Amino acid sequence: MRRKLVIGNWKMNGSLAANSVLLRGIAAGPANQNVTTAVCAPAPYLAQCQAELAGTAIAWGGQDVSAYAAGAYTGEVAASMLQDFGCRYVLVGHSERRAYHHETNELVAQKARAALDAGLTPVVCVGETLAEREAGRTNVVVCAQLQAVLDVLENPALEKLVLAYEPVWAIGTGRTATPALAQELHAALRKQVAVRSESAAATIAILYGGSMKPENAKDLLAQRDIDGGLIGGAALKAKDFLAITGAAN
Ligand code: 13P
Repeated sequence: MRRKLVIGNWKMNGSLAANSVLLRGIAAGPANQNVTTAVCAPAPYLAQCQAELAGTAIAWGGQDVSAYAAGAYTGEVAASMLQDFGCRYVLVGHSERRAYHHETNELVAQKARAALDAGLTPVVCVGETLAEREAGRTNVVVCAQLQAVLDVLENPALEKLVLAYEPVWAIGTGRTATPALAQELHAALRKQVAVRSESAAATIAILYGGSMKPENAKDLLAQRDIDGGLIGGAALKAKDFLAITGAAN
């Protein structure tokens, strides 16, 4: 049995004051023995996450990482810097990074490797746009996104990877993938990992993201290959986020 993992992706939201309320609200929630919980905050607030969450069961992480270890890369954040602030996770290849910052499959793969090299767990996001789905290209697109990452990783690093299937048409739209549709994609991703490594396929957590809310979390999380959630909007309210982690229990 894979342990469930629920991660809040705050995106570019928050302030010291608002984060404090949110982090305390989450930390005060019921202890959830069967679920790992984490929040991915904007980089300037990672020190705050560390101060508020150290000693609790909740982990934290970044939303992006440089493919490079150090040097003249203005504006970038290195994996070792995330480590310095106690991060366990980092999102890599979120669709908003791919769309607005032109991140390619190959760059995403390099970022995943940089994260693993520094001892972080990369949460590699994959997913098709509405146009790609309507053109019948979902599997081709998503498989290519995953394959680029598989191509640069070997076991045992590969087993530490976390994947997130986030159909772009479901992100922030209120339009969630049905549990059956998400399950089908998750199973396909796991099968693709199995071609490289059966043990990694059995171990890797595959999260679903895209308008996951307290009302639909239970049905999605009940699917055989859905090992947790990557939560956007609903992660900004402690009550909603806790309802989702509760549904994963
Ligand atoms: P929403 O939950 O707001 O749809 O966002 C999903 C997401 O992009 C998480 O990374």
